[in-house]
Amino acid sequence: MSDGICGYTGRLLRVDLGRQAWSVEIIPDGVIRGYLGGRGFTAKYCYDEVPPGSDPVGPANKLIFAVGPLTGTRMPSSGRYAVGCRSPHTGAIIRSISGGGWGAMLRAAGFDILILEGIAPDWVYLSITDQGVTFHDARHLLGKLAEDTEAAIAHELGNPRAKSVVIGPAGEKLVTFACIQTERRSAARGGVGCVMGSKKVKGIAAFGAGKVKLFDQDRFDQMMKDHIKTNFKGTYYNRFHHLGTTAGIAHKHAIGIHPVKNFQRGFFEGISPLLVPGIDASGYKVKESGCWNCYMQCGSVFDVPDGTFKGRGYENPEYETMWSFGAHCLNADFAGLLAANRICDDFGVDSITAGNAVGFLMECYDRGYITKDDLNGVELTWGNVEAMVEVTRQIVTRGSRAGNWVADGGVRNAARVIGRDSADFAMHIKGLEFAAYDPRGLQAFGVGQATSNMGAHHQICYPVQELFGFPEQVDRFSTEDKGRHAVWSNRYIMIFDCAVACGFPNAFTESRLDFDSFPEWLYCATGLEAFHTKASLDAIYDRIWTVERAFNMRNGFTAADDTMPKRMLEEGMADGKSSGHVWHRQPLLEDYYRARRWDPTTGVPSRALLHDLDLDGIAADLAHDGILQD
Ligand code: SF4
Repeated sequence: MSDGICGYTGRLLRVDLGRQAWSVEIIPDGVIRGYLGGRGFTAKYCYDEVPPGSDPVGPANKLIFAVGPLTGTRMPSSGRYAVGCRSPHTGAIIRSISGGGWGAMLRAAGFDILILEGIAPDWVYLSITDQGVTFHDARHLLGKLAEDTEAAIAHELGNPRAKSVVIGPAGEKLVTFACIQTERRSAARGGVGCVMGSKKVKGIAAFGAGKVKLFDQDRFDQMMKDHIKTNFKGTYYNRFHHLGTTAGIAHKHAIGIHPVKNFQRGFFEGISPLLVPGIDASGYKVKESGCWNCYMQCGSVFDVPDGTFKGRGYENPEYETMWSFGAHCLNADFAGLLAANRICDDFGVDSITAGNAVGFLMECYDRGYITKDDLNGVELTWGNVEAMVEVTRQIVTRGSRAGNWVADGGVRNAARVIGRDSADFAMHIKGLEFAAYDPRGLQAFGVGQATSNMGAHHQICYPVQELFGFPEQVDRFSTEDKGRHAVWSNRYIMIFDCAVACGFPNAFTESRLDFDSFPEWLYCATGLEAFHTKASLDAIYDRIWTVERAFNMRNGFTAADDTMPKRMLEEGMADGKSSGHVWHRQPLLEDYYRARRWDPTTGVPSRALLHDLDLDGIAADLAHDGILQD
């Protein structure tokens, strides 16, 4: 499709919502070579185009969608997209990634990047084809649930093959952690759906039939065929295909890093119904599901035939949501968990933040810091599944006083309102709620989380060394050399974020955590030597990381934000296989800053590092703002 670099359309679509106009730009070669795709593009354009101090829900914030050189190719699971902006939930930069097939369709329509800017005068949805953009009145879609919105747009366009990203009612109401949905998949974290709502965009349909030219199409196709042949129906496939990430609970609970009761404990006596045998025994599963062009099909669909949570077509929650509405709330009722997850999908919010917040409110209720008057009369006791589902509904609809506190900024904001010592156990970093891992039992993971540019994002530093002994065996409780391990983990996550492709069918395979194939695949797709070696890719990943860090620092974040709630720093884990441990901030932070070549005290990237990463312009910006001092 492009006459430029293979593997890219090379085109950026810019939509001015205020004027209801659009234009097409050529993506500079330097941006492609320097930032690869996906998260690299969202970071680059966020830094360049969203001025420091911009109101996240104001016209100056931009919503940037991007795909990568592997999106929409024959690589399995390559229908994904990345989306980034300044987060209304945290104030920091955010990137969120979603499954489904919309990313492939954006490419087929002829674009690698879509930037929404300004605010529409009234609610619209957009349709994008190779002919450009059409603006449609969306006022009649307001209040529709996410899936119904997708169906309505497809019907109105008369094109069942068009794919849409949409927001639910929570995005319309500017819930700060609203997500963007497509095909029951979510770009979940950090409030990208809130920003889309602030721009009065209910949905974006894309359709096209274009193909991106690859550098060596025959070899690429053969490599993909070989890859699938090796892995399809193998051991890992069989385990993952059955219930996806849900299957990971048993291991993580067994080693005491699956947090229980708002991180008060590391062991949950009642967890059995949430483990694979318990889910199988429920008899609720009716079929498998999954994303576009993925042989793994890691999703499942459940019908609950009777009881309080009777319903059909529940999508299986991911590992993190199984936790947030499970052990975190001391709940083992799988049907209730499915119902809470469904509310999040329908209304369009991040189910990790929502469940984390319900557990936080349970602890506040238990301590007498809030009462049922704050919850429309609901008695939010630990493990009360009906109360858990009802309060989830209150949050996504802004239907109670406590629901509003959470909707306006998650547990950080709720703790501000509730006061007393509630901030000590409001489980977030930089405003983004923890997911299903307790850093007291995973020290490298902890420093990756504390220093994350996006807060406690579960996809920023996945501790495979500490969890699986790969690529090195390490003591998960030790602080030694954990800066290096966390940086390694930061980098490998970037592969999927920038490529853009799902890690499960491509790296977590029979050959187990096979990240080394990616440079060859990227080279075959693009022909660029810059993507052909691990070392040159690492430099790109570090550039992206540094740009994000600079964006945050210019928005007021400092080393003081690289921390965790008091519970992690001072309360030893009460029980389980990580019992007695805390997370050791100071030595870990120093080691991480050293590994990153950041100032050991301020955490500011050094001038030498910025120069080596071709970021002298950012060095000048940081110096101008008084952040970088020689
Ligand atoms: S492995 Fe699962 S999440 Fe990943 S692309 Fe396939 S179906 Fe989607």
